[in-house]
Amino acid sequence: MSDQEGRFREYLGAKGLRITPERQAVLTAVLGIQGHFTADQLYLRLERKNPRASRATVYRTLEHLVGSGLVDKVDLGGQQAFYENFYGREHHDHLICLGCGEIIEFTSRAIEELQDSVCREHQFEARSHSHKILGHCRKCH
Ligand SMILES: [Zn+2]
Ligand SMILES: [Zn+2]
Repeated sequence: MSDQEGRFREYLGAKGLRITPERQAVLTAVLGIQGHFTADQLYLRLERKNPRASRATVYRTLEHLVGSGLVDKVDLGGQQAFYENFYGREHHDHLICLGCGEIIEFTSRAIEELQDSVCREHQFEARSHSHKILGHCRKCH
């Protein structure tokens, strides 16, 4: 069993849920995706292999994966969101193009330090953060 599966089982177990074949299939599909994906893209990928996959199960399982910390969800406002494998990855933030949907990852030590100092100032213990900048990429502006 992979670390990821162990962690997912543990998370589900704490909620009184079991790892069903459907949940297992969603986990396997998610672990096989490089980069960023939407819930619909994940569903289409699963549906190709298993035509009986239920959209509701895929979506719910994806939310469990977010809850377990294996997957990061980046909300773009409205009903759009994208997901990415988070396990074992370095923290990073995103630039998101409203024209073509391109997603550029960046890390900025200066921004991280600034956030830390804002938290200290407010005696706030940060658990996580997500920083995104919406706009137009080089090709689209
Ligand atoms: Zn663009
Ligand atoms: Zn990313």
